[in-house]
Amino acid sequence: MTRCGIAYDLHRLAEGRKLMIGGVEVPFEKGSVGHSDGDVLSHALLGAAALGDIGTHFPDTDPKWKDASSLIFLEHTRKLLDARSMRINHLDAVVICERPKLGPHFPAMRHVLAKALGIAPEQINLKAKTNEGTGEIGRGEAIASHAIATLEG
Ligand SMILES: [Zn+2]
Repeated sequence: MTRCGIAYDLHRLAEGRKLMIGGVEVPFEKGSVGHSDGDVLSHALLGAAALGDIGTHFPDTDPKWKDASSLIFLEHTRKLLDARSMRINHLDAVVICERPKLGPHFPAMRHVLAKALGIAPEQINLKAKTNEGTGEIGRGEAIASHAIATLEG
């Protein structure tokens, strides 16, 4: 059976935080605010692939996950899928931010994400989009990501 999962995530951006996206630190003057490392792309992928909410498995009230690498969540997702005899066929995601330019970082992100999920980089497609200067994202106050996962099993 083929199933599709969709997810959306958004984090506020603030100075004094690292900007972690897809398990890769992207040099920028701001970073995402979150209980974990605030990795908006990993969270969207997790939500889509795990067919559930990140908070179900990693509640942000648990001090264990404070500043945790979101790659740990993806490795856990892989275990959840294994337990259900399901596997990831394909992941597609778009990251929405006004700056910085993400395209140059996508090859590294695909590599890191694929390793954490136990799939090939070719099974992950990443795109970047600005918000055309509008709203919170356009003002550089937030970063968002939409992801869709195609699962077999
Ligand atoms: Zn998140």
